[in-house]
Amino acid sequence: MALCYIGLGSNLDNPVNQLRQALDALSRLPLSHLISTSSLYATPPVGPQDQPDFINAVAALDTKLSPLALLDQLQALEQRHRRRRQRHWGPRTLDLDLLLYGRQTCATPRLQVPHRHMHERAFVLVPLHELAPTLTLRQRPLSDWLKGVDSAPIRRLSDVDVTTAATI
Ligand code: ATP
Ligand code: CA
Ligand code: CA
Repeated sequence: MALCYIGLGSNLDNPVNQLRQALDALSRLPLSHLISTSSLYATPPVGPQDQPDFINAVAALDTKLSPLALLDQLQALEQRHRRRRQRHWGPRTLDLDLLLYGRQTCATPRLQVPHRHMHERAFVLVPLHELAPTLTLRQRPLSDWLKGVDSAPIRRLSDVDVTTAATI
């Protein structure tokens, strides 16, 4: 078993529902057990600014799937959410990034783990810190990485926000 962290993001077609459905699907992945999920966060887009804010979250998953088999599952799930790759870093219905796969590293064209940008992205570090406050990344505590990013615009959604947003 490997303890993995998966980053989720959406900014199209009711993002709160997209994430809820994705988290539900993650809880039903083969050979896997969903351990915990972070709160949902509203975050400004990275890259092109002429697109809606994102909803982001992180999930912790115990799995017996290999890293590539897990990536296959995540990409199949993105497809089921009708993800179309258009603009680089453009809007999307669902983005699932494999952030960490235990302590394993992987550097193939299809998969790099740890995810190569995770340590510099507030929308990843804030929900990850909620789930795993004592985690270290590149031999530095997560809290150190958090100090290096601007987490001010990252807003945790309350249960009320989530319920309201899910019905829009
Ligand atoms: P970023 O990777 O900067 O967050 P993105 O999520 O928009 O950008 P995608 O278009 O979703 O990028 O993915 C591009 C490719 O990245 C995928 O086809 C996948 O093979 C590859 N990839 C490499 N490492 C990972 C990883 N750790 N998790 C998910 N995909 C990965
Ligand atoms: Ca991504
Ligand atoms: Ca991705």
